[in-house]
Amino acid sequence: MPTCCVVDCANRTSCGVKFFRIPAGSHPFQKNRRHLWLQAIKRADWDNATIKEARVCSAHFISGEASLDSSSPDFVPSLFVYKKQSQTPMTKMERYQRKRKRDERPDMQPASSMAEMEQDCTIDHCSDEEKAEGDCPVSRKEHDDLCFTHHQLQEDYINLQQDCFKLRSENEELRNELQKSKFSYSNVKSSIQLLLFFTGLTSVIFEWLLKKLAGSIEIGHQALPLEDQLLMVLMKLRMGLSNTDLAYRFHVTTSTVSNIYRSWISVMSVVLKPLIKWPNKGSYT
Ligand SMILES: [Zn+2]
Repeated sequence: MPTCCVVDCANRTSCGVKFFRIPAGSHPFQKNRRHLWLQAIKRADWDNATIKEARVCSAHFISGEASLDSSSPDFVPSLFVYKKQSQTPMTKMERYQRKRKRDERPDMQPASSMAEMEQDCTIDHCSDEEKAEGDCPVSRKEHDDLCFTHHQLQEDYINLQQDCFKLRSENEELRNELQKSKFSYSNVKSSIQLLLFFTGLTSVIFEWLLKKLAGSIEIGHQALPLEDQLLMVLMKLRMGLSNTDLAYRFHVTTSTVSNIYRSWISVMSVVLKPLIKWPNKGSYT
């Protein structure tokens, strides 16, 4: 014969009261309801086995029935001898019923499943068979809360997408700026005057020279592309720039400048030698 598990309540089946199981199931709705019940009856420390056996009598519900509607005062047991009531229980129930009437719309109330679940709470029904845990109707308030959260998340998502788009284009711009600020052949060649100033050559001759020398240069200086290596060498020859100056401009070490210079000069002296036309000895006499 079940006895009520609430502190200081000695109600038994013989007292003419109904008994309700403490909500079970893994659905968030059921978990939350169980948590609220255990808090209300001051049994938050109970384990699952004890919860399964425990029963709460109808004397702890204002209407005498447990409710599955989260906005109902009977969603959680609330009448206890040890608890002072801030509002009289009947006022709470009347307010809830007025609200329910206002909210009631045929399309929003899953009436049949609600009734099923309400029945499911009584001891007669659930003692023998367990209903499927996933089939849990969601209260109107919870539905509204979820809609609100969904709406907020959608807004956040759109804002984040916009931020992401903005950051991407900013990143692209910064990359372009960084590329432009580098001292390189691809930047210098965009101005004919600048290329002439630094090398004394036009871009056509520069590229012909590069093609002629490139095959003979050992690819040992990965720090710079070949075209930038040639630019560096030509700048040193024409302007007499120091290795430190060139290292700073091309973002390499001075020893790299020195190595590049030495390997290019030796190749240039061999490859370009036939281009030097010395006057004949006879022409002086
Ligand atoms: Zn009781």
